[in-house]
Amino acid sequence: MFCQKCGKKLDENSSFCPECGARIEKSETVTYDDFDHPERHESFSSHKTNWVEPKYLTTCMILGVLSIIFSVLNYFGVYLTHMIGIVMGIIAISLANKDKSETKTFSKAGLTMGIIGLSLGAFAFIVGFINAI
Ligand SMILES: [Zn+2]
Repeated sequence: MFCQKCGKKLDENSSFCPECGARIEKSETVTYDDFDHPERHESFSSHKTNWVEPKYLTTCMILGVLSIIFSVLNYFGVYLTHMIGIVMGIIAISLANKDKSETKTFSKAGLTMGIIGLSLGAFAFIVGFINAI
């Protein structure tokens, strides 16, 4: 830590700067600079809760839901929608994994829905394939 007035390196526990005598403010607030550099922010306050908006969470959830809807539509006789469901399910799953690696927030709901949509779509695909024979 450094003095806010003169910039001299300080002892972590000191409350006054030995150089200029300035009072050392022990601030917990997050500066705007930290938002510009999330990786720096993360290193000194890993204990802080997720201030990061999960980047892919919403997209992942929407895709997961759509995946289920499209896959289910196929069961109601709408043609080939399960193919869309499968693709969206795969995208939702990959987004969930990307979200995990980049923001450390795991889109569990999105992943689950993606898997459900994908499974439903795959099942519809198999059933359709068997019926076609
Ligand atoms: Zn100072």
